[in-house]
Amino acid sequence: MRQGLSSEEARARRERYGPNALPEEQSEPMWRRFLRQFQSPLIYILLFALAFDLFAWIQEGAHGLPVESIAIAFILLLNAGLGVFQEYRAEAALSRLQDLSAPQVWTYRDGTLARIPSSELVPGDLVRLEAGDRIPADGLLHEADGVLVDEAVVTGESLPVEKPAGEEVLSGTLLVRGKGIAEIRRTGLESTLGRMAQMLGGIEAGETPLERRLTTFGHQIARWVLALAVVLVALGLLFEGLDQFNRVLFFAVALAVAAVPEGLPAVLTLTLALGIERMSRRQALVRRMVAVEALGSVTVIATDKTGTLTENRMQVRDLDTPDPERALRAMVLANDAEVGTGVGDPLEVSLLEYSREQGTDPLTLQQEYPRRSSVPFDSARKFMRVTVEEAGRPVSYVKGAPEVILNRCRLTPAERKDWERKVAEHAGEGYRMLALAWREGEGEQDLEFAGLVSLWDPPRPEVPDAIRRAQEAGIRVLMITGDHPATALVVAREIGIQSARAITGHELQSLTPEALRQVAREINVFARVAPEDKLRLVEALQADGEIVAMTGDGVNDAPALKRSDVGVAMGQRGSDVTREVADLVLQDDNFATIVTAVEEGRSIYENIQKFIRFLFSTNLALVLLVMIAAFTAVLLNARDDAGALLLPLTAVQLLWINIVADGPPALALALDHNREVMRQPPRDPAAPLLDTPSLRFVVSTGVVKAAVGLALLALMPQFGLSIATTITVVFLYESIAQLVFVYPARRVNVPPERNGVLNGIIILSIGLQVLTVLLPPLRQMLGLTPMGLTGTIAVAVSVLATWGAAELLSHVRWRVNPSPRRVRAM
Ligand code: ATP
Repeated sequence: MRQGLSSEEARARRERYGPNALPEEQSEPMWRRFLRQFQSPLIYILLFALAFDLFAWIQEGAHGLPVESIAIAFILLLNAGLGVFQEYRAEAALSRLQDLSAPQVWTYRDGTLARIPSSELVPGDLVRLEAGDRIPADGLLHEADGVLVDEAVVTGESLPVEKPAGEEVLSGTLLVRGKGIAEIRRTGLESTLGRMAQMLGGIEAGETPLERRLTTFGHQIARWVLALAVVLVALGLLFEGLDQFNRVLFFAVALAVAAVPEGLPAVLTLTLALGIERMSRRQALVRRMVAVEALGSVTVIATDKTGTLTENRMQVRDLDTPDPERALRAMVLANDAEVGTGVGDPLEVSLLEYSREQGTDPLTLQQEYPRRSSVPFDSARKFMRVTVEEAGRPVSYVKGAPEVILNRCRLTPAERKDWERKVAEHAGEGYRMLALAWREGEGEQDLEFAGLVSLWDPPRPEVPDAIRRAQEAGIRVLMITGDHPATALVVAREIGIQSARAITGHELQSLTPEALRQVAREINVFARVAPEDKLRLVEALQADGEIVAMTGDGVNDAPALKRSDVGVAMGQRGSDVTREVADLVLQDDNFATIVTAVEEGRSIYENIQKFIRFLFSTNLALVLLVMIAAFTAVLLNARDDAGALLLPLTAVQLLWINIVADGPPALALALDHNREVMRQPPRDPAAPLLDTPSLRFVVSTGVVKAAVGLALLALMPQFGLSIATTITVVFLYESIAQLVFVYPARRVNVPPERNGVLNGIIILSIGLQVLTVLLPPLRQMLGLTPMGLTGTIAVAVSVLATWGAAELLSHVRWRVNPSPRRVRAM
């Protein structure tokens, strides 16, 4: 047995050589992060206005406190604080993911094979490498079994090169075939990859199409609003004269700020990050933010069988052989699993276990008949060969898919027919079939048939339910497997995938593109599929307008994963290459996790729509209220005692509502659960962010809140309230009404579930609004007055009335009742 390093020695070397990783980038210091929050054209304008306001105050002799300036500065600081907080949380969530997705390697430590993060490797470590592994550090091959390495990253050479024992393997290159044991020589910055100063396998957190769409949308609004502000300034100067320039400017800027949902991009990023974190807690690791959106609109999940739908815990149920001794030798010798540790392909491990049960000691057998050469298994060829030395002469053992092996065996037509019948029979019972053969000398033809193994791989217990949930959500589930068609069909039926028949990869190859599309529409089980068939299938499905999530574990699956809309790789089984190109990695290799990820993807999108509705409804209400009131004041020439035009809300108040009161509830919406999303059909990826029901919500609630505000403005003086008190009433109404409107905003597409954080935040926020009137410093800063009983009643009644009406309406109007389900053949 190989010893490897002792843990102690490894620890000492780790101290000496450092981790096998590139130094982390310094994170941005807090102050710079804080300053960056001010980098937005709208905030620039606001800062400019603020400076102007202060300047005017100084020029007028600096009497008393510059209350307005202080208020604006305070609001801006709060806004920046909130921004930093959101950024920090989003980053923390993503960096935890980064740790989770760090690559792992099999290493000998203290005499056993252990799976450790590759950053823990030190020079001297012995690592076990197999097809699909990214070489974790520079090393020397001690053993090499058909090792073929793709060194394109380092040399640019696209053809893989053979590496016999004794040669170097370089970090960052890819083992495409075979397996080997390497001793690590150089790690971290000393290694080839380190010298190239580039790291593979990080999480891409670039701007997603959704974020981009939203940014463009935001810019469009900003342009309109700025145009509006310019018009306002011009009109204001016309009516108020130049001496009021700073007030007019200030007001126009505030209105502009009120019209734009500044918080949106930050809330969006945070919602995505928190959603991604929630997914990772449910074993679904998102590697690209973009995938979240695509997940929400997936219409087809194409999954492999072994290990994803089944447990990949093989058990030999039957061995049918004309020559038991040869059969057992083939099982043990044509086998790449580690005898001592049980590390390796579960199928091969099960063969070793079976031979042990039959009284054969695998280790003794392997030592007795040392390996001379081999051709490793790959899922395109579907067999493997090992040539050993038996009494000084070479003997080859082969195992693989029965069709492939039977074709290479010397059998009479009758014998072959008989074996084929047995294969079909056992496969029809759901067994995974494997054939064994041998011959004298080195070769893979003219073999002697040595037996047929039936293996049982139980379906995962949670899979049938997951498939049903996917189908209910309008998603088709396809099984794409390398296994025998009969086995595939039986397992598929058992877990709830219905298909008239199973099509094989061979049949697929002879189809025209049109015929392939037709087949992809009708058949749900694909068997004996080679990786290139997977690619063609994805393309055929996509050509039909489907959004495809596809799983893959082999080195050759990477192109199909890349091509699919959501490439899904396995966290435990499967190759580094598939994980690198994947959008989603299943930590538990479990199909049910894909369905969970789809649910989360849909839920995140739903939450984004919720806060868009919530925020835009407020923006529309404020703009309408202020514009209509201002024009009315101009028409009626309504002025206060100082001779200034009467306006419903001041600049400071607008900013307060839009920035301070709006932010926290929008954040809490990110925590909403929406299980009901799985009762709806997949979302059309081209559908607008503000869909028709949402638009209806924004317009109707925006108009109602503006109308009630205007009504209060007109009516309150009739009840004897002063102008200042009336404005306080309007301010309080608008700010509290928008807070409670978060509830109807949640109910447009799916019935909401309990969200304690949201309730808490709404109560706290309403409390804060009440404090703006009760606490003298806040009151003074915001330019409010005490309200008295009449004012308080007016606010309470109008909030409750509009809220009640909105709740009522939201039950009858906006709710898209379990929408017309798309009927499709499952
Ligand atoms: P899936 O794509 O669902 O994971 P799979 O794992 O069954 O399918 P492959 O691994 O390509 O697909 O296996 C195809 C066939 O090759 C199996 O049905 C089996 O007969 C044979 N086979 C699988 N593993 C080995 C192996 N290690 N050695 C020899 N033959 C194997």
